[in-house]
Amino acid sequence: MKEASYYIKQNGKVQCLLCPHKCIISEGKRGSCRVRKNENGQLISENYGQVCSLHFDPIEKKPLYHFFPGKTIFSVGSVGCNLHCKFCQNWEISQTGVEEYPNLNYYTPEEIVNMAKERKDNFGIAYTYNEPAVWYEFMLDIAKPAKLQGLKNVIVTNGYINPEPLEELIPYMDAFSIDLKALSEDFYRKFTSSGLEPVLNTLKTIKKYGKHFEITNLVITDTNDNVKEFSRMVDWLTNELGKDTVLHISRYFPTYKMNKEATSVSKLRQLFEIASNKLNYVYIGNIRTGEGQNTFCHECNHLVINRVGYFTEASGLDNTGKCIHCGKQILSES
Ligand code: SF4
Repeated sequence: MKEASYYIKQNGKVQCLLCPHKCIISEGKRGSCRVRKNENGQLISENYGQVCSLHFDPIEKKPLYHFFPGKTIFSVGSVGCNLHCKFCQNWEISQTGVEEYPNLNYYTPEEIVNMAKERKDNFGIAYTYNEPAVWYEFMLDIAKPAKLQGLKNVIVTNGYINPEPLEELIPYMDAFSIDLKALSEDFYRKFTSSGLEPVLNTLKTIKKYGKHFEITNLVITDTNDNVKEFSRMVDWLTNELGKDTVLHISRYFPTYKMNKEATSVSKLRQLFEIASNKLNYVYIGNIRTGEGQNTFCHECNHLVINRVGYFTEASGLDNTGKCIHCGKQILSES
């Protein structure tokens, strides 16, 4: 436990300012994320140091395809989330708090950094599994020394965070994997208990700071798979973030409170075609056929990264991430 950053005190209550919910929390109660609590008039981060998952994962699993392809990243997560998506694939850890979840182990930031450095083929630390924004203080306490010791920091996030804490975090992060669930305020309200606008602002801010980011859109049957709506989202990405924005179109499977059928492969193919007409790098995730996985240079059309499952071969790139055929920069330069 640690005192939280970004809150104000108001007559025994506290108001958390970390994310756009701006929860006003009475004594002994928690915010909507279940992991920030008013204890004696102080806002406490209850999940500070509380780790539920530690794994060495392929970076492709985050998913990040244009950032150190084929490399391993030490991935850590806790419990809690500021969104309540009805289709959450990690709901067992995201929709719970520290007291209710039995499988947490306490680590210090130094222990996490040391574990990350133990494996020689590991290049960084990814904050993932639950929503890292609600692990803010612990994440920063790891990210700062990790960066000083030459590790890269990666965050996998829903992007629902206020501008001030985001701007404090950005200098320590090297890459962002961000969910954009739909370009619809209505969808965000109805299915995630949050709002769209702050997520769009987060995307624009990360772009403004020149950080590497990739976007994942989970396509849910009869929910956010409307072709017109999807095209509008692709247009927004193209116009606001640029044609080189990497988009992962991910297949949904029934889970948690959502029982629509799994997204059909034909629907994913259709949306892949639409997105590929506007954006240079579009991928399909969560399907077994392996299609929509490889990277082709948008300039000369050569295959530059071949992916089979989590086996990745970037033989079409030089060591600065440029296409060996035409010199186009494909990977992030960070
Ligand atoms: S981080 Fe948690 S407590 Fe703070 S405003 Fe968001 S949901 Fe509420």
